[in-house]
Amino acid sequence: RRVALKSSLQTISLHSDPMTTIAQAIAQSPLPRLETRLLLQHITGLSHSQLITRDGDLLPPEQEAQWRQLCRRREQGEPVAYLLGSREFYGRTFAVNRHVLIPRPETEHLLEAALCRLPAGGALWDMGTGSGIIAVSAKLERPDADVFASDISADALAVAQYNAQTLKAACTFAQGSWFEAQKQPARQWDVIVSNPPYIRADDPHLAQGDLRFEPEGALTDFADGLQHIRHIVAQAPQHLKTGGYLLLEHGYDQAADIRRLFAQHGYRHCETLLDLAGLDRVTLAQL
Ligand code: GLN
Repeated sequence: RRVALKSSLQTISLHSDPMTTIAQAIAQSPLPRLETRLLLQHITGLSHSQLITRDGDLLPPEQEAQWRQLCRRREQGEPVAYLLGSREFYGRTFAVNRHVLIPRPETEHLLEAALCRLPAGGALWDMGTGSGIIAVSAKLERPDADVFASDISADALAVAQYNAQTLKAACTFAQGSWFEAQKQPARQWDVIVSNPPYIRADDPHLAQGDLRFEPEGALTDFADGLQHIRHIVAQAPQHLKTGGYLLLEHGYDQAADIRRLFAQHGYRHCETLLDLAGLDRVTLAQL
């Protein structure tokens, strides 16, 4: 990187466009400070402190062009995670692209609740794994566990597998819709965990913010929000060991409906966990 910046200094006179220093890019940025810093770090490969100590350096023309393009895309609403191609989850950096939902901090509650219910050497299935954050984190936190992850989207599964590979998590993956992904029907699980598409089709949030850019099929069931959850709750007993757990992330107003579903299908010890905003976010039950 240092070489690239130095050589850009030497070629400055060859470019007719005015050159921009890092300090100027920051001062003129239309974006919030944090986003500016993250995007500039991404483009230049510099650390946060290098960005400050070397802010007199000129941006090489291709980096300046990239900076302008990313600013434009961000101003049009594209999520920062997609522009960076990554998002942190549970202390690790996961690759993301427009084929997967952007990892949310709320999902860390789901992961932790699943981990503390997984017995030593237990088997966990992450259904609708998306970028693979739950499965990969579970395997890295609990190397003793047998972790399986599935998704209906081949594009999402490619991202999950890439993350498992780069983070060195030995999970197994399969493509398929919910329980259809498992080819050995006799297999039984200690924990089944899912953050399914639970937003109802007419929720105005789908047309706002980051959600506009995320895969629709990862966000909504195109119905009342409970379509996939009904299916998972009804089918999971055939795939769980006795004493096994099903854990689901859901919307702030869905806990009562989900608890009713769990009760109808003979689960016990139903519990709802709150997120940091104090909203119902995860409901789980034991078979
Ligand atoms: N399991 C992934 C996550 O929690 C993907 C969830 C989804 O696409 N609905 O981020």
